[in-house]
Amino acid sequence: MKISEKQLSLVDKQIKRIIASGNYYSEIYKKAGITGVSTPEDFEKIPFTDKADLRNAYPLGIQAVPNRDVVRIHSSSGTTGKPVIIPYTRKDVDDWAEMFARCYEIAGITPEDRIQITPGYGLWTAGIGFQAGCEKLGAMAVPMGPGNTEKQLQMMIDLETTVICATSSYALLLAEEINKRGLRDKIKLRKGIIGSERWSDAKRNYIARELGIELYDIYGLTEIYGPGIGINCPDQTGMHIFDDYLYTEIINPETGEVLPDGEEGEIVITTLVKEGAPLIRFRTHDLSRIIPGSCTCGRTYPRLDTIKGRSDDMFKVHGVNMFPSQVEEILGQVDGVSSEYKIDIAHDENKNRDIIMITAEADGRVDFEKTAENIKNLFKSKLNITPSVAIVSLNTLPRSEKKTQRVFDHRGD
Ligand code: ZN
Repeated sequence: MKISEKQLSLVDKQIKRIIASGNYYSEIYKKAGITGVSTPEDFEKIPFTDKADLRNAYPLGIQAVPNRDVVRIHSSSGTTGKPVIIPYTRKDVDDWAEMFARCYEIAGITPEDRIQITPGYGLWTAGIGFQAGCEKLGAMAVPMGPGNTEKQLQMMIDLETTVICATSSYALLLAEEINKRGLRDKIKLRKGIIGSERWSDAKRNYIARELGIELYDIYGLTEIYGPGIGINCPDQTGMHIFDDYLYTEIINPETGEVLPDGEEGEIVITTLVKEGAPLIRFRTHDLSRIIPGSCTCGRTYPRLDTIKGRSDDMFKVHGVNMFPSQVEEILGQVDGVSSEYKIDIAHDENKNRDIIMITAEADGRVDFEKTAENIKNLFKSKLNITPSVAIVSLNTLPRSEKKTQRVFDHRGD
């Protein structure tokens, strides 16, 4: 979707503000001779921004306002090296809550609802975003944070929670517990708002069926406010992204070329009105596509398709690019296998070959050996690789409240 006149003028203002602030990016833009944008062609010449910049600018190098205007910081988890710190102004915090409240509304949630929030509070943007949006909407927040499943279930029953907010892994864990304890008749849940990590249809169907709820994917990342910048509507045709706050592009992750609507690539986001830490053309490393045309629901916000994975989750086996989502799709076709799995990749020096090992969980209705054989054959026919496959019993693999690491690359260990 081409950048509009309105969006261009907002980006122009952002760039001028960034340059005047003297922050990390002001130097980069000055060196590149960028003073503003007036055409879509100017816009496409602005260099991408990336998480690596934010690490270089640690702790507050990307702040574009005076200290007195900053009311809060958040930090994104640093799995490698320094974390990233994002400063927010009062307006940023309000804008985020406004977008989040919109997400709840689009999902059909009303002030009558009771929203149980299981994502973490604190430096992480998750919990507090869900909470601020809930309060803006006027619903009742049950601010649980992660863990303590016993208490989660008790509150869910006693407070008659109607909406659960969780990662897909934690929603799955709760669904499994509710199923195991036979609590289904005691819960009043009607909707689930699930953080947009890539998750399989098998997992989605299990959670929806076991809890008897409608599921919505909410999108966001700490660098761009946090979760709540987009959500799918009841028509389930993709996630609406709020284009009055953000401009979204899809690029080829290898060449940086901007791709037309409908083509799959990496999501790049520009903040149009963010004050504390404005980001122009930020590479999210999330893979998706812009769905062409308009939604049957009548909303005109552009739509992103389900997140297919992350460009940095991609792994190569025998020189072939693979994504965890491909593994999930295969496992989803195998009877009795859960949606949790682990991929280990190693290199056999003697044979000079990469070895891929899949660990999957099965419920035992089908013989483990047969299940392993079945998975092996599917990999062979669909991806032309033959992994070794280990089957373990249900609930053996770790469940995580945050994003679960599934690919372990031991080559070079
Ligand atoms: Zn829609």
